[in-house]
Amino acid sequence: MSSKLTKEESPMNGGDEPESEVNYATAICCIDGRIQQPVSDFGRRRFGVRYVDMITKPGPVANMSDEMNAYVRISVREHHSCGIVVSAHADCAANPIDDNVQKDQCRKAAAILRETWTKTEVIPVWVSLDCAIELL
Ligand SMILES: [Zn+2]
Repeated sequence: MSSKLTKEESPMNGGDEPESEVNYATAICCIDGRIQQPVSDFGRRRFGVRYVDMITKPGPVANMSDEMNAYVRISVREHHSCGIVVSAHADCAANPIDDNVQKDQCRKAAAILRETWTKTEVIPVWVSLDCAIELL
């Protein structure tokens, strides 16, 4: 990333200023503490942003409620989020069903999100037991 101003030329409050408005992505993630960091890291890398708004709920892909969409709305509208990662993971206590069924739920959750957020890229992912991210 190139910056137009050198450190000396930057105003006092300019050091942390983003180069564009897009500094956020959004992630929908289980409450499971094992997977939030890998999902957040993936979102940062994938979208090249500094922050990932983490919207959590136990096993979220099993039930994509209006409430979840309202949370996504805050991230997209107020933070100008440039992309949404929707995740499911192995060994989910809140959604203890077959991995392949969970993966299918995750793809369907992504499809639901795409209907609402037509200009925002939505990426469904699976997090394995060793915290590897698989694109769905
Ligand atoms: Zn879970």
